[in-house]
Amino acid sequence: MVSAFRRRVLAAVALGVALPSLVLAALGVMLTLRIERSLLNDAVRYNSYLAQLVGESFENELQAHLQQEIQGAESTARAGLPVEDVRRALADAGPEFLGSHFVPFEDIGDYATWPIQGSVVFYAEGAGRHRAHEFYGLLLRDARGDLLGVGGWYVDRVAFLRDHFEHVLQDRLPANPRMYGGIELTRRTSIELLGPGNERVARVREPGDQRTARTEAMVGPFEGFSVKVAVTPDAPPAWTGRFLAFELVFIVGMAGVIVAAVWFGYRYTIRQLELAQMKAGFIGNVTHELKTPIAMVRLAVETLQMRRVQSPEDSAKFLGIIERETSRLTRLVESILDFARLEAGQATFRFEKVEVEPLVREAVETLKPRLDQLGFAVRVDVAPGLPRVRADAQAVSHCLLNLLDNAIKYSKDRREIAVSASPRDGGVALAVADRGIGIAPADRKRIFEKFVRIENGLVHDVRGAGLGLSLVDQIIRAHRGRVEVSSTPGEGSTFTLVLPSAEGVLAEAEAARDRSQHAGGAHGGAAAG
Ligand code: ADP
Repeated sequence: MVSAFRRRVLAAVALGVALPSLVLAALGVMLTLRIERSLLNDAVRYNSYLAQLVGESFENELQAHLQQEIQGAESTARAGLPVEDVRRALADAGPEFLGSHFVPFEDIGDYATWPIQGSVVFYAEGAGRHRAHEFYGLLLRDARGDLLGVGGWYVDRVAFLRDHFEHVLQDRLPANPRMYGGIELTRRTSIELLGPGNERVARVREPGDQRTARTEAMVGPFEGFSVKVAVTPDAPPAWTGRFLAFELVFIVGMAGVIVAAVWFGYRYTIRQLELAQMKAGFIGNVTHELKTPIAMVRLAVETLQMRRVQSPEDSAKFLGIIERETSRLTRLVESILDFARLEAGQATFRFEKVEVEPLVREAVETLKPRLDQLGFAVRVDVAPGLPRVRADAQAVSHCLLNLLDNAIKYSKDRREIAVSASPRDGGVALAVADRGIGIAPADRKRIFEKFVRIENGLVHDVRGAGLGLSLVDQIIRAHRGRVEVSSTPGEGSTFTLVLPSAEGVLAEAEAARDRSQHAGGAHGGAAAG
């Protein structure tokens, strides 16, 4: 395994890459948030300013109307005609002015005054007969310039605001010297006039972003009314929100990708280091595995050559050693070659319809002398009527031998092995069960990786290169089957090879061929047509 120090160095390097990118992403997000906030603040300030100007423009509009309408009454007053003539001159008025009214100077104590552009506008709530309307008027002076009284009308404020809304926005507001280039921006603003109960009196355009909405109360003659200004949906502050959301998703996504890339890079490097270490371990292991039988063979041959062996039983024993060790050598070399071929993708299988029973019995028979010698009790159980499997008989037999070899190697005192063949998923399951040391749950996946040998009590006593199960797995996959393992540590393990039936695979292949022929036929037809 990779040392803790190396892991720490690698983790530090990975963090060194991931952290700066996360910090950069966070900076990007912060910058965007600041820009958005400043844009919103500007919009809010502008909207508030615009709302105030709209209110003021209405005051000016009202004053202009009053002045225009009152001209007749004023000239009558200046001409020194009696008050009745002044009243008569007031009677002529615009649609929003209701009844004409004249209040002598002595009676105007309850009136409020509101100066607009140097003129004084009088207004009083509920005065006179028209309790529902407010009275508005201007000062009237006589020929000598003395204050005669107040002349004006009861005004329907809602009607006045509604009637003059467009005009105030289109003419009066742009003519305001403080409006700079503001009218350009009003195209991207929604302006609403709200009544005393917040009901809408008039409006232009649909409001977009409510965060930019600002409501300013109108004062003076229009007290109780208010102007609400917000940006329209197509205004920059409205779409910054959407843009920000998009940008946030993008930045978070990018940060995620970077962190994932660093994580996978880290994992990949650790894996490569582990593989390199396992390969080094494997070479050491294999060297040892090769040297031991060679040494034993040499020793036996030398003993025989020197004729130190007297009895024919002894010479048979040494010949037995030579035979056992050379076959062990052959198995090892074959395993390595098979593995190399599979890794290089050069392994070829000769698939045939194979009877399962003879395959199982032959495999057990091959290892019988060794099993007997080591005192193993072997039970073989083949269910009747099993379907034939589509397999390379030699490769599957190799797998079974590998499993049996492991069952022998990793059994301690309870030397019992059960080999069985039974139907499964329409195919056949070949199982080799032992009552050996078992495999911890955490290792059950790893044991199928190449070069992996588990650090258990037996690994140093038992020979192996860590290739067997990796080979089995690759071979069975090539057969479109799978390898299953179940195990209880200390109780034993069962390895099962699940192989599809020959008929099933053939039917599948035929169906696929039919489909491709069909597709080819249809294609040909279309071309001919
Ligand atoms: P090898 O036997 O050469 O070490 P394998 O690939 O055949 O390599 O097996 C990998 C590891 O799986 C073994 O080192 C062993 O720890 C474990 N193993 C395999 N078969 C068994 C078994 N029947 N019982 C317990 N452990 C097993």
